[in-house]
Amino acid sequence: MANVAFIGLGNMGGPMAINLLKAGHSVAVYDLSQAACEQIEMAGAEVAGSASEASSGMDYVISMLPAGKHVAETYLGTTGLLADLDEKTTVLDCSTIDAQTARKVGESAAALGIGFMDAPVSGGVAAAQAGTLAFMCGGDAATFEKAEVILSHMGRNIFHAGPAGSGQVAKGCNNMLLAIHMIGTCEALEMGVRNGLDPKILSEIMLASSGRNWSLEVYNPYPDVIENAPSSNGYQPGFMVDLMVKDLGLAQGIAERCKVNNAMGKLAGELYAQHQEAGNGQRDFSSILQKLKT
Ligand code: NAD
Repeated sequence: MANVAFIGLGNMGGPMAINLLKAGHSVAVYDLSQAACEQIEMAGAEVAGSASEASSGMDYVISMLPAGKHVAETYLGTTGLLADLDEKTTVLDCSTIDAQTARKVGESAAALGIGFMDAPVSGGVAAAQAGTLAFMCGGDAATFEKAEVILSHMGRNIFHAGPAGSGQVAKGCNNMLLAIHMIGTCEALEMGVRNGLDPKILSEIMLASSGRNWSLEVYNPYPDVIENAPSSNGYQPGFMVDLMVKDLGLAQGIAERCKVNNAMGKLAGELYAQHQEAGNGQRDFSSILQKLKT
């Protein structure tokens, strides 16, 4: 069993740390929020007074933080963790952040002989609780081997996307496509409904035809087509519009840097930003259907 430091115990990091404890690992935790720390302490974690105290001498340091600036502050510079860690520690940042920051942390870690992977996840809070997340990893092959051992206690599918930063690029590609097919699914269903079709029957037709996609099949945005989908539960998240807007901003940054013409992804970003501004930030992202009704 491994000694693990876990930094960032929010909606995602909390249940992920608990799954490591359940698997029998020894887990030291740190979060700026005392309440978040206390909750994980009750599950058996040791609470540290700082990220540095939690990480000292550990086999793994795992972080699940809000954005790139938090990751940079945590790892880089004279006060960052990398300066204190030794070569036996493997660093896994599971936060969703910009690929440049992930590459920068990866390069700094490599220069010190420390293994680093960006390992953002697909799957929301329910998947974090159930231990069924998908991890998209960026780093070298030797670090990936070590990463798989520990990530397998928090997720089901663990992919090696390429060198440092590649996990974030894969996540950006996936979530841009997700936004596009969610909006397309909403438009197709609404068009059918306005012509008198039953959304359940139309969904069955498209699922057996070439319009089949994940939003239609697993997460249908039309209420009462799928019993447990957020759409059938007043669009309670699930995956919030606020997070989709964040991820589409990151995807847009990736697209602009490599100069791809992502007209659909850009438009999806604009539509989700408008939906957020209209007061829907905390609703599930499938609530974009309601925008078509206004
Ligand atoms: P959250 O806001 O619930 O949790 C973030 C935690 O980090 C908070 O507890 C905060 O106190 C802590 N924190 C912030 N700065 C810190 C620091 N310097 N040191 C220690 N702790 C610090 O966010 P979340 O929903 O858990 O998301 C975390 C990451 O996972 C984000 O990058 C998000 O984009 C990504 N993500 C979230 C979901 C989701 O459905 N919530 C799904 C996939 C990916």
